[in-house]
Amino acid sequence: MSDKFKAIVLNQSGDKFFREVKNLDKSFFKSGDVLVKVDYSSLNYKDALILKNGAKLVKEYPHIPGIDFSGQVEESDSSDFKPGDDVVVTGCRIGEIYPGGYSQTVKVKSELLVKKPKLISNKNAMILGTAGFTSLLCAFAIKAREELLLGEKVNDVLVTGATGGVGSIAIMVLSKFGYNVTAVTGKKNKTGYLKELGAKNIVERKELEVEPRVLGKGMWDGVVDTVGGVVLANAISQTKHGGIVAACGNAASIKLNTTVMPFIIRGVKLWGIDSVVLSKKRREFVWSQVSNLIDFKLLEKNIKTVNLEKLLEIFPDMLNGKISGRILVDLNK
Ligand code: NDP
Repeated sequence: MSDKFKAIVLNQSGDKFFREVKNLDKSFFKSGDVLVKVDYSSLNYKDALILKNGAKLVKEYPHIPGIDFSGQVEESDSSDFKPGDDVVVTGCRIGEIYPGGYSQTVKVKSELLVKKPKLISNKNAMILGTAGFTSLLCAFAIKAREELLLGEKVNDVLVTGATGGVGSIAIMVLSKFGYNVTAVTGKKNKTGYLKELGAKNIVERKELEVEPRVLGKGMWDGVVDTVGGVVLANAISQTKHGGIVAACGNAASIKLNTTVMPFIIRGVKLWGIDSVVLSKKRREFVWSQVSNLIDFKLLEKNIKTVNLEKLLEIFPDMLNGKISGRILVDLNK
């Protein structure tokens, strides 16, 4: 490996915020015990926020963003990893307080890394990325109604922000579980793709942007919500008795204006999803389930692959809700 590598570097000076692709060397890294040659990263909503202005998540500059990556270990001072191991990381504050995946080389703490399951490629690991990992956490939260809570079978599930990274993969996983998935989208022209992913019904987003009733007609055993705000408030009010609402996102709003009635009259459970801080045991479990639950051929139909330079051009589209599917970042491109 050449000593130099390419990375996106963010910097801040007074009111000015800079982002550029630079050539760096290993002296950039101040901590970590495993050096990884990064193959792929991805663009997630949080990445777009960080690329815009650091999103108050980045504490020190200059900084390499990118909240997930897959790659191969080059050097290791940890007994858990050896050169040649394929590894993956999502969350764990990579790309926030630690250097991230928008770099051909990165040095990380070994406890943040998970060995990539053999049945998936490094590319597929990042086609999934943080968005897909979060979808799986949401889907398992809903399935918990049947197992952990010893509830009845889950039948009807609602997914909001359906064409987004989290939403689209959640549709795939939930339909793989055998649930009837209704997709909420603002993009009418993506109906075909959502049905191909497994959605049985499509609802236009504006139908959930109305003032919610205290208790609407109960329609959902489970909800995966990626948008927050009034859409989430409506989804909660439409959840059936004992249903689980997995709330993971705020693409529309961080606010939630609801009442206690769905919780105390219907026993609705609001289950917050955090993909950033979770035990290595849970991270390894989620990755171990990927090859059973994800149809990568199908996801590939809605993947755009970019290099670091192109990523800097297109990331604002994500903040403007213009992207559907996943953006894969190829560090060898
Ligand atoms: P995307 O940008 O890929 O998808 C978001 C989708 O939400 C869009 O495609 C659009 O879908 C819908 N949307 C966009 N803007 C609005 C709006 N103003 N009102 C209503 N709907 C809107 O993002 P991701 O799927 O990667 O992430 C979704 C959310 O989940 C984000 O808020 C992200 O921060 C959060 N997240 C949280 C994680 C956690 O650990 N809790 C981890 C990963 C993501 P459509 O047009 O189909 O309606």
